[in-house]
Amino acid sequence: MIASPFGDVRMRGFTHRMEVARFQDLVRSHSAPLDSEIVPVVEGSDRILSESVVSLVDVPAFDRSAMDGYALRGEETFGAGVYNPLTFKVVGEVTPGQVFDGKVGAGAAVRIMTGAPIPEGCDAVLMAEYTREEDGVMTATEAVTPGRHVGRIGEDIRRGTPLFDPGRRIRPQDLGVLASIGWSELRVFRRPSVALLITGNELVKPGKSATGAMIVDSNSIMLRALVERDGGRLSELRHLSDDREAIREALLTVAGDLVITTGGSSVGIEDHAPSLIREEGQLLAHGVAMRPSAPTGLGRLADRLVFLLPGNPVSCLAAYDFFVGLAIRRLAGREEGWPYPCASYKLKGRIVSQIGRVDYARVKIEQGTAVLVATSGSSILSSTTVADGFVVVPQDSEGMPEGATVPVWLYDAPVGSP
Ligand code: AMP
Ligand code: MG
Repeated sequence: MIASPFGDVRMRGFTHRMEVARFQDLVRSHSAPLDSEIVPVVEGSDRILSESVVSLVDVPAFDRSAMDGYALRGEETFGAGVYNPLTFKVVGEVTPGQVFDGKVGAGAAVRIMTGAPIPEGCDAVLMAEYTREEDGVMTATEAVTPGRHVGRIGEDIRRGTPLFDPGRRIRPQDLGVLASIGWSELRVFRRPSVALLITGNELVKPGKSATGAMIVDSNSIMLRALVERDGGRLSELRHLSDDREAIREALLTVAGDLVITTGGSSVGIEDHAPSLIREEGQLLAHGVAMRPSAPTGLGRLADRLVFLLPGNPVSCLAAYDFFVGLAIRRLAGREEGWPYPCASYKLKGRIVSQIGRVDYARVKIEQGTAVLVATSGSSILSSTTVADGFVVVPQDSEGMPEGATVPVWLYDAPVGSP
């Protein structure tokens, strides 16, 4: 066990709160991308590529028609027009997936459909609109230059072209390109597995109804969705009472690349998680200069990060977004930044903060201005569902005055019109 500067603070309060930026740097220094794994291309959507992709083939692998019409020698149509129709002998037809066998000679044309290979001897396609066909003879009323309406070998992807770099988040159309070049498998970063330890004597599992002095655990269901959003997956979910030895046992036996506990992360008598981490591993941080979420901790246990999140649901959400999501996205090989769009809005009313602490202030967008959500206690989870986003008041700021233009992180991406 490594000695920790964060002593047992139970019933004594935090003597030191770590700056948000320092806490985040600590998270960064302990979270490098995990190893990679091979997945079938069909399962590759939204995964993060861990290798480079270079095409080994030309797409298409043949010259193809870009139009329905007649393949012929462009030069032979020169001079054709409505008042000077030229005729060609139709020697056959080719549709996509077929090859016209035979060579097309002078004065001949082949009926061709979009996507079909250009027959040997032809170098252009005359669109059907400029033709008539009767008794095996096609009449052309327009000229085409050689090469017209012909998609050349490799026009889409040339052999040897680098297509994707490691770190690419796979889009649906990327899968299409990968399939086009014949890939069936991809090397991607492994998704971090995350164990959730939900502590609290007062909790009943989500889906059950709370009676008496009990409440429903809302953190686990929210955290699971956040973990999945950031590219992780849940490996285990355990509900525990505030029983020191039960929590110790869980911390030592859960499976996962990363562990999150909620509840009991502060300085109360039932707040066991921080001192347990100190006993069994290394407590890297306990207490952060932020509101809500001050009672957040970070530790290492058997080589993996353990995040100690406050039970209060808003604190839990903010602490996840400031610290845990950062770790999960990094482990997953993703961009570490927030998955929230940011836009500037004028502030209606003011936001009061304190120098030395970061504030996570929920706001609603009303008529193009940002309005602070009034019920802002850290136990009021519905403040985050009423809100459209949040403003981060920096550590060195006393707040933001009425009318200031402030950056708002939006929970939802704005929807554009098609
Ligand atoms: P704690 O962090 O354990 O001191 O809990 C702070 C507050 O959050 C208390 O009111 C708890 O009842 C509440 N709380 C703790 N865990 C959860 C949870 N999983 N879901 C909802 N509320 C919780
Ligand atoms: Mg508790």
